[in-house]
Amino acid sequence: MVTVRIKRAALESALEAAKHTYPDEFIGILRGKKEKDGALLTELLIAPFSTYGNGFSSYSDFHIPANVGAFASFHSHPYPPASPSAGDLQFFSRSLPFHLIACPPFESANAFDSKGKQVALEVV
Ligand SMILES: [Zn+2]
Repeated sequence: MVTVRIKRAALESALEAAKHTYPDEFIGILRGKKEKDGALLTELLIAPFSTYGNGFSSYSDFHIPANVGAFASFHSHPYPPASPSAGDLQFFSRSLPFHLIACPPFESANAFDSKGKQVALEVV
């Protein structure tokens, strides 16, 4: 079973950023590395994303810096469900191995692989 493990501080930073950006969407990337059956995500990177709040159009500006060890994306939805939209699925398929989505009240997130299939998320 595929499991994405994430350090508590990294998840809390992302959820906090999502709360502050609400009702706009927050997008960030998570540094991490591959593990046998998934990934370990260690740190939230606030990448040089230009704007928040344009819905999935903000993905057009979503540039993932090279060589920072980016392994997953994180973004928030202003309302449930925390599951991928059609635009999200397109974005997932052409970017990183894993993707997290959170929605209000931003207490946790769901994790998905690049095909949009939900995987387990474990806070470590
Ligand atoms: Zn989305």
